[in-house]
Amino acid sequence: PSPRSEPIQSICCIGAGYVGGPTCAVLAWKCPNICVTIVDISQERIDAWNSDELPIFEPGLEEIVKSRRGKNLFFSTDIDAAIIAADLVFVSVNTPTKTRGVGAGYAADLQYVEAATRRIALLSTKSKIIVEKSTVPCRTAESMRAILDATSPRPGVHFDILSNPEFLAEGTAVQDLLKPDRILIGALNTKSGKLAQDRLANVYATWVERSAIITTGLWSSELTKLAANALLAQRISSISSLAAICEKTGAEIDEVARGCGKDSRLGPHFLKAGLGFGGSCFQKDIFNLIYLAETFSLQPVADYWRQVLVMNEWTKASFSRTIIRHMFSTVSNKKIALLGFAFKKDTGDTRESPAISIARDLLVEGAEVYIYDPKVSERNMRQCLGAFSNFHFSSSVEAAALNASAVVVATDWDEFKPSSSSGKTAAAIDWTSIYANMNRPAFVFDGRGILDTAALQNIGFKVHTVGRGNLV
Ligand code: NAD
Repeated sequence: PSPRSEPIQSICCIGAGYVGGPTCAVLAWKCPNICVTIVDISQERIDAWNSDELPIFEPGLEEIVKSRRGKNLFFSTDIDAAIIAADLVFVSVNTPTKTRGVGAGYAADLQYVEAATRRIALLSTKSKIIVEKSTVPCRTAESMRAILDATSPRPGVHFDILSNPEFLAEGTAVQDLLKPDRILIGALNTKSGKLAQDRLANVYATWVERSAIITTGLWSSELTKLAANALLAQRISSISSLAAICEKTGAEIDEVARGCGKDSRLGPHFLKAGLGFGGSCFQKDIFNLIYLAETFSLQPVADYWRQVLVMNEWTKASFSRTIIRHMFSTVSNKKIALLGFAFKKDTGDTRESPAISIARDLLVEGAEVYIYDPKVSERNMRQCLGAFSNFHFSSSVEAAALNASAVVVATDWDEFKPSSSSGKTAAAIDWTSIYANMNRPAFVFDGRGILDTAALQNIGFKVHTVGRGNLV
């Protein structure tokens, strides 16, 4: 067989972030015969991947990395060497929203994808498969193709471009990678494209059932990633909008969600009301979709998806306003404990975290905000809120809540939830002792709907839960 139909033996992943790191660590774990090198321009990040303190927290990830590191899994800043050796290169760099110029605020900034593509083109001395792992606008592979064709100087070196978007969710990345709902591989409908698609499919088939590996055209695959994130975000905005109606009517959002979720056409997932969505992807990918629609003069389509973002911003702002209103319309100089700063549980990632918006709203109003999060460092919090002198880092729930007027739950960490083992009213957090050390009235604002409202009210707290009627 020609080298272009042989099994993949060497993989390079450009970008050692939240996607590149876990994705390729799991791949190395499941495919011990493939040599996997994950590279990055950030020395700090690579050093962390090579240390005992990985740069990102994901349940189960540390064990996997440690079991393969130095065997068939390597982290390096020698990008060129890894590209040269690879049969297949994942491009897993960041694709943030552009902050200036044409399309600012909406279009994806593809400078990192372009830089990686140029590097591959310049260095390759043998044919390679290049895989878009990053989330990119629809038809990005076309630009990559043009860059490769114009830059690659070597005859006989052929590149196939595949789209293989990543659907992992932070906090459950390892589980999602081990048992993905689906693996999507898009290719051009050519002999060469199909061959490349098969070779990547064979890698995944080592641990993923064939029926879960979907092959599509290149443009469908690129668009599917944007579409999936837009639909998930839309569902959160939908439940946020209904939670707002619940708060005015006495209906309870969890009951409404349960009633709706039992409809098999709707299903039970992604119906938990809270502070809207956060994280680095949903907003960015909807911006991307809006930009795509506007580029093709599809204004109603752009407006439709824009409303999902409007709803999300409103959800966060409305929660902050509720806190302030209940606290007699002023939080100036009041101590408020904010529990959770990550955008969701089981991750230390704070990108677009709703907690940042809530914290900022309260800090602007003059509150002394004490923040505790099990996985977010003080340094990370300072990067987000450093401009405010009234922000404080706390190393425990108790320290954050001592002498506070209110406790605000902003992230759904399990350690904030009532412990199921010791019954519904017993809490992992000792709310009775927290109450004893708080100012009166002592408020709890549950932005994630995870606390036992009745138990807290019995202790004496005044509780507001998102989507659950008025404060009592
Ligand atoms: P990230 O910022 O954590 O990681 C990207 C890494 O790429 C950074 O460490 C950066 O230094 C590196 N990089 C940039 N340019 C480089 C270059 N030319 N050479 C080498 N390294 C370079 O980003 P992420 O969260 O891992 O996301 C990566 C992509 O995956 C994005 O397109 C994102 O939309 C997508 N995605 C993210 C998630 C998620 O949950 N975070 C899920 C699915 C898809």
